[in-house]
Amino acid sequence: MAKVYVTRSVPEEGILKLKEEGYDVVVSAKDGVLTKEELINELSKDTYDAVLCLLTDTIDAEVFDAAPEAKVFANYAVGFDNIDVKEAQKRGIVITNTPEVLSDTVAEHTFSLMLAIAHRVVEADTFVRNGEYDGWAPKLLLGTDMSGKTLGIIGAGRIGSRVAYHGFKGFDMNVVYYDIKRNKEIEEAVEAQFNDTVEGVLEQADFISLHVPLLDSTKHLINKDRLSKMKDEAYLVNTSRGGVIDEEALKNALENKKIKGAALDVFENEPKVTPGLADLSNVILTPHIASATEKTRGAMSLLAAQNINAVLKGKKAPNAIT
Ligand code: NAD
Repeated sequence: MAKVYVTRSVPEEGILKLKEEGYDVVVSAKDGVLTKEELINELSKDTYDAVLCLLTDTIDAEVFDAAPEAKVFANYAVGFDNIDVKEAQKRGIVITNTPEVLSDTVAEHTFSLMLAIAHRVVEADTFVRNGEYDGWAPKLLLGTDMSGKTLGIIGAGRIGSRVAYHGFKGFDMNVVYYDIKRNKEIEEAVEAQFNDTVEGVLEQADFISLHVPLLDSTKHLINKDRLSKMKDEAYLVNTSRGGVIDEEALKNALENKKIKGAALDVFENEPKVTPGLADLSNVILTPHIASATEKTRGAMSLLAAQNINAVLKGKKAPNAIT
């Protein structure tokens, strides 16, 4: 019976699927992220044919060495910057991810962040809870409207396209975008205007939303220099990967009111947050939960299992990266 190792407890959909298909499934007993040493130790205890891993696991040559029979590592995420893909390719190991099933959920979370920072929802909630609310006032906690404003999308792939759609359809926003390749679909569907530089989008947009993968080419894509190109009244939202923003530079820009605000679901050194950032009232922070709805996390679990099943049955994985 083929054996599958799951690096942390995930929603049961995928586990049930793997069991239904007849695999012996071992789920890490640790209620937390395995350190690399722990993961290597766990994998070395038995012979595994497949691994279902998470974005919090570092998967590299040493981990592959610990599971020499594993034909597939199925990442429970759409991003795969935690995996040494080149090393996997060299070894003929299939890497898969979980695209599409989470795009709408992440787009919704992006909008919940955008609305919350523009309408000062978190500040207002804290204000009421602290007993500071002593009556309606004309100038109390004034926010910013989103309707009719310009939405800048950096990375107009699956998630970025859905954010563009919601902005256009829901809030009458003008959409401008930058990507390394043009997306004719959103140009037609939501009248999105392509700009061939990041700066061009930053200069025009009132709300900027990041949706690129974390790659060498996107590390610190938003840095001090680029933050200075944003309008003073603009907001930055990041539900992609923390490393896409130079977080120290962002903290300084927020502190010095160079931009109006930011909302982040992801951090450069997760789970750590740059010291001082959480003290600022013009930023909202969520703990990497953009895809965290019951339905979507279940769908991701099932998709990861389907990818494993396909590879172990000798078929092409639906979401193979290598
Ligand atoms: P995707 O591959 O469909 O879209 C990414 C887009 O970025 C593509 O259109 C690509 O051409 C573009 N791109 C790549 N390099 C670029 C560059 N240097 N400059 C500009 N554009 C570039 O991916 P997706 O499904 O939309 O997901 C996007 C990212 O969102 C993932 O890689 C992942 O890191 C992140 N994500 C985060 C969460 C979360 O929980 N916060 C959930 C899902 C995905």
